[in-house]
Amino acid sequence: MSTLPIKEGFLPLAGIEKRQRQKTGRLARALAGGVRADLHSVPRYLVRYSALVLALFGVLSLWEAQGDGRIPGFTSLLPPMGIDPSRVSSLHCAVEGVSDEVRWQGLTPALKILDHVNPQVAAWLRQKHADGSIAFFEDYRGTGDRHMALAKYDRLRRRLIVNHWLFCENDGTVAAILCHEYRHARQSLPKLVRCALSFIVTKDGDPSILENDAVLYEQEANFAIFGK
Ligand SMILES: [Zn+2]
Repeated sequence: MSTLPIKEGFLPLAGIEKRQRQKTGRLARALAGGVRADLHSVPRYLVRYSALVLALFGVLSLWEAQGDGRIPGFTSLLPPMGIDPSRVSSLHCAVEGVSDEVRWQGLTPALKILDHVNPQVAAWLRQKHADGSIAFFEDYRGTGDRHMALAKYDRLRRRLIVNHWLFCENDGTVAAILCHEYRHARQSLPKLVRCALSFIVTKDGDPSILENDAVLYEQEANFAIFGK
């Protein structure tokens, strides 16, 4: 019995297997080539974007180097100059329905204090009022932060927002809080951009980029007004 016909019958099968192996090999090589190309492109993109981010922060740092300009200092209200900063003079302005003009007059005791301790802040407030850039609110809630709830500087509209609850504070505290908002108004645009970018990088951002200046300035105001 010859095995030749059987041998001949297996030849086409061997050919198909060979072609399939070659095809699989080509596919595997193509895949490996693609993965290799991807692996090569990752570091390139990383380097490119890292360089872009570093350049952006570099430009921002240079831009920010100009600072906030000269910020006026404080003169102590002490010894007492006939003004009692612990008085709550304008409680009637905290009542709902009081007109803006009466509320502006309600800031007079705080302005009198600022005329002594920091005339430039007092002048800024009078200018804001003259420009119609002080808004008195009754329903403004802020974000839960005390300063945000009592007063806020709206950078976009360049206006000072005063909540009616501010008038429940004593005159010295009202003056100090207005100094806090003045300091915000003097902050440079690059600082605002850096703070905004921090919210892209982290979920809660870094509000201290803006708040630190204002809180320190308010502390200086409190020290000048109350001596503590
Ligand atoms: Zn603030």
